[in-house]
Amino acid sequence: MSLVFAFDHKHSRNPKDLQELLGGKGANLAEMVSVLGLPVPHGFTISTDAYREYAHMGWPKSLNHEITEHVQVLEKKTGREIGGKDNPLLVSVRSGSKHSMPGMMDTVLNLGLNDKSVIGLARASSNERFAFDAYRRFLAMFGRVVLKVDGTLFDSAFDSVKRHDKAELDNEVSVGSLQILCDRYKLIIFEETGKHFPQDPKRQLRLAVEAIFQSWNGARAVAYRNREGLSHDSGTAVNVQAMVFGNLDDNSGTGVGFTRNAATGEATPYGDFLLNAQGEDVVSGIRATDDLNGLRAVFPDVHKELLEIFARLEHHYRDMCDTEFTIEQGKLWMLQTRIGKRTGAAALKMAVDMTRTTGRGANSWKISREEAVMRISADQLDQVLHPRFAQRRHALTCGVAASPGAAVGQVYFTADQVSHVASEGGDAILVREETSPEDVHGLMAARGVLTVRGGLVSHAAVVARGWGKPAVVGAEHVHISGASFSVNGTTVKEGDWISIDGATGEVMLGKIDLIEADPPAEFNVILGWADKIRKGKMDVRANADTAADARIARHFGAQGIGLCRTEHMFLAEDRLPVVQQMILADSEEDEIEALERLREVQKTDFVALLQEMSGFPVTIRLLDPPLHEFLPTVSYLESKMVTSGLTVREEELLAGSRYWSEANPMLGTRGVRLGVLKPGLYAMQVRALLQAVEEVQAKGIDCRIEIMIPLTVCAEEMVVARSWIDSVVQEFSLKGVRHKVAVGTMIETPRAVFVAGELAAVSDFFSFGTNDLTQLAFGFSRDDIESRLMPTYLSMGILPNNPFETLDKNAVGELVRMGVVRGRMEHPQLKIGICGEHGGDPRSIAQFYEAGVNYVSCSPYRVPIARLSAAQAVIASGHQTSPS
Ligand code: PEP
Ligand code: MG
Repeated sequence: MSLVFAFDHKHSRNPKDLQELLGGKGANLAEMVSVLGLPVPHGFTISTDAYREYAHMGWPKSLNHEITEHVQVLEKKTGREIGGKDNPLLVSVRSGSKHSMPGMMDTVLNLGLNDKSVIGLARASSNERFAFDAYRRFLAMFGRVVLKVDGTLFDSAFDSVKRHDKAELDNEVSVGSLQILCDRYKLIIFEETGKHFPQDPKRQLRLAVEAIFQSWNGARAVAYRNREGLSHDSGTAVNVQAMVFGNLDDNSGTGVGFTRNAATGEATPYGDFLLNAQGEDVVSGIRATDDLNGLRAVFPDVHKELLEIFARLEHHYRDMCDTEFTIEQGKLWMLQTRIGKRTGAAALKMAVDMTRTTGRGANSWKISREEAVMRISADQLDQVLHPRFAQRRHALTCGVAASPGAAVGQVYFTADQVSHVASEGGDAILVREETSPEDVHGLMAARGVLTVRGGLVSHAAVVARGWGKPAVVGAEHVHISGASFSVNGTTVKEGDWISIDGATGEVMLGKIDLIEADPPAEFNVILGWADKIRKGKMDVRANADTAADARIARHFGAQGIGLCRTEHMFLAEDRLPVVQQMILADSEEDEIEALERLREVQKTDFVALLQEMSGFPVTIRLLDPPLHEFLPTVSYLESKMVTSGLTVREEELLAGSRYWSEANPMLGTRGVRLGVLKPGLYAMQVRALLQAVEEVQAKGIDCRIEIMIPLTVCAEEMVVARSWIDSVVQEFSLKGVRHKVAVGTMIETPRAVFVAGELAAVSDFFSFGTNDLTQLAFGFSRDDIESRLMPTYLSMGILPNNPFETLDKNAVGELVRMGVVRGRMEHPQLKIGICGEHGGDPRSIAQFYEAGVNYVSCSPYRVPIARLSAAQAVIASGHQTSPS
């Protein structure tokens, strides 16, 4: 089996389809050479198979021999010898994995230079300065990347040479100084490693390839793959390519080019170009670049050739490509191409534009609407839905990216302060250890939220996502102390400005400019096509608790409410005391009185909600959380008791908090169990709902309500719960009002899955609560695990994904599939939905579609993503009808 392939190797398939073997860069270089016949410097790719063999068993036996053979071929093709003393061949050695990981792995340029070949290069180029500049760059790069020498040692040596030469810019350093610098660099290498810099190009190459293999597991690369959800197993290829020089003279240059504008999506080629420069000068931004018009002014023929190549690339790849090119003494060389990265707005515009024919005759091409839908990623949609930062800045720390969007504000540590600052027109970020229902008014008023503890399905995350508020949770390294927090040696005081990115989990110091969310016109075009594709196959509803949420959900195209967490209605500042009164009631009359007050407010909320959802199904979940969540914590009240003392009311609250506190509240008195202990509670909720329905229907609004019982583990619980609902329905029918109410259960525990048949016999529908199901299947506390354990589990590869984000296919996914099958066996028409946070996650939606689920329900701001992902799942399964 070959481990190394020349760019012109005849593969059995087009090389662009062999990215797993050749990596993205290698596959596309081979495509440009062997299929498109474009001007590409010769070279070869050491495959990912070689990497994998190296990773498992050390340096492959046949690899030295194969590399030597390919170097010889390269020397023959270029007519130059690597390390030769006349016109020597220099090569670049670059990583290239299946998925592009820009800047995350290492590169070595100008390899092949040594004390002898640098003279040959000076002679051949008639440019001594150029040759020694290339040598000093190579020595520093090789020293840093391959020999792991601290790069600042090279930088400071260079700075002192610059000072000596009184040079402001790098290119003002004299040849003599560059020669001295090369000797200094070799000395640094010797001092730091105890070994001489290897003069033998073969040895240089062997060490460079190994360093690049190793950079696959470097901290940067691992962190990047974790963030992007990429596998750690595929490994990287290494591309060895003859160097061409854009910095040889003023008849040379280098640039990057896009076949369309990657920022706006406009169908006009776009590029950055620099005369007499190397590629890294373009990307580093050291020198101001020119655009493609600037290129045309200096190199009209090259410009024409480049645009022809752009058109061929687009036609061939049927997508926007980005490229790197170099002009060496007037000749154009293509160094790289790939499907170009683009902004969300550009992705939408390009996808829609490309469904219309581009080019003429044999060169014309277009994509189908299905392809257009498949080309948009969830991240790209998210980008146009939320504000984002205009520029990047070093992150102070990183937590769990819990609710996307960028937020800038002053730090405050209590909900009251945040609410006060916001009421004065200020921008505040709520920073808390963790949030509880008592912080809701602060969450509502904040620009964003940062918590030390918690994960994707913790209280702060769920509430923030529901409101489209940027949130970073579980930022473990943040230590709050009084009116400041410290993180990695920096102290941030109350009132200081910070910026948080809820899409990446980054927390930055100071104010960063924001770009407001602005979905382009193509947003609705793509989603319209997606809706046609998934019609009748998978619906998308929203988790919405208030009329305001419902309005947003409708705006984003939700086909109903799949989960109204009625406890969220109890959280408003004026409701909480009434809930507390109900919890603390020590006589039946007190309880009845409190329930009555709650019924009134709850009815008002239901009226508002139902009015927004005329003609759409609305699933109302009866109260779920443990009651102590509505009370202050015992520790808070106890510490207040010893400091400032408690009021009579607070003493009652303390007694209630102590009474209702449990060792494992998420496994305790919550869900339907609460209903069993306080049956008046659920009856009150149903009464409030039916009264609201009556009121709203009188206005001609079409109500379709579904009542959902949480956390059921056996049919008997369902039977009892149904009996409360039935008796309230009965009350209304005695008054002559008949209500058609569907009653269903959540499936949130493994036991409920196993007994799904018996639950289906007494349910009109199921909705999988995959947050609790994940918690209980793994035994992972949903409130604790993500900040401390999860990052370690992900970076060590113990888990491939965070299971609270993407449904765990092997077990929780299997539980969903089993529940669907068992439920439908008993009740073939059983409607089945998903209302855990996974309902808005693209990879989970694909699993739900395969399992036969009828709808997913997610936070209103995720609805567009769910609409797109559901359509993509339908297309991927081959079940679609064309949206045209
Ligand atoms: C769930 O458990 O998935 C669910 C939707 O319920 P909650 O998050 O409110 O517990
Ligand atoms: Mg739940």
